[in-house]
Amino acid sequence: MIPPLARRFVAGETEATALEHARQLNQRDVGAILNLLGEHYHSRPPADRDTDTYCRLVEDIGNTNLEACISVKPSQLGLDIEAGVFRANLERIVETAASEGVFVWIDMEDHTTTDVTLDAFETLARESDAGVGVCVQANLERTPKDLEVLATVPGKVRLVKGAYDPPEGVGFTEKSRVDEAYRSCLETMFETFEEGIAVGSHDPAMIDYAAELHAEYGTPYEVQMLMGVREDAQTDLARERAVWQYVPYGGKWLSYFYRRVRERKENALFAARALLSG
Ligand code: FAD
Repeated sequence: MIPPLARRFVAGETEATALEHARQLNQRDVGAILNLLGEHYHSRPPADRDTDTYCRLVEDIGNTNLEACISVKPSQLGLDIEAGVFRANLERIVETAASEGVFVWIDMEDHTTTDVTLDAFETLARESDAGVGVCVQANLERTPKDLEVLATVPGKVRLVKGAYDPPEGVGFTEKSRVDEAYRSCLETMFETFEEGIAVGSHDPAMIDYAAELHAEYGTPYEVQMLMGVREDAQTDLARERAVWQYVPYGGKWLSYFYRRVRERKENALFAARALLSG
């Protein structure tokens, strides 16, 4: 059982709780991006098991009228075992999702996985009938070049600041430099993409900048934020534009919950207050 404290950031342990959360989000006009927690598998059985679960999940979503999609992590589908395992599992999910009309996002992990992740995305985006999207990280030096290619590929692109610290020469870690890169990538996307832009950020400055760029270029876009972070802002923004919430769920919630609590003082205070109030 997930303690109430962690339920702010994780929808529950089962598909049923994740779908119920999606239903509640939809009532606030917010879409749900469901993510089964799990990563860095070093043997096939867990990677294949999570692939099976995703296939069942997209069938379940397809049987509802929910505004919901999924987001998968390459290392959850077997990338640490072998690129071929990741690609085969991803293809299986995308094939099932295509038949159910469900969109599939591919998360981006550390910089050593960027090439194989973008390759897999590009192949599926060009060849499959399914809607697919990929995440790119503004803190990597290569991202402006990747965006040039991605502008020519069908599918969506989620721009994030980046959750993994890249080594020197590969990317930046200084916050002001990352913010500057995020703005620059965002501008490139609004300028060169015809559609398919997702702003994956909680940062009011970046969300305002996206609105300015939209007013200038007219390119449609959506905002994506994590479950439990700036929930009121998500509801408010959804009155004006498409907003999607990234919704983690599943048995492996503990390390994800600690990551959320550690990353910001407010989250740690929230956790401490909840613990003290019993
Ligand atoms: P930050 O620089 O962390 O914060 C900027 C400002 O945003 C803060 O000053 C504050 O005003 C506001 N803010 C941020 N967090 C909070 C909070 N908890 N409470 C209140 N205000 C807050 N990273 C990857 O590397 N790969 C992925 O595939 C990936 N997918 C993601 C998907 C989504 C939908 C989102 C939202 C993020 C994803 N990330 C991913 C994480 C991302 O890279 C960042 O680490 C994370 O979003 C923090 O950056 P930020 O843009 O929100 O702004």
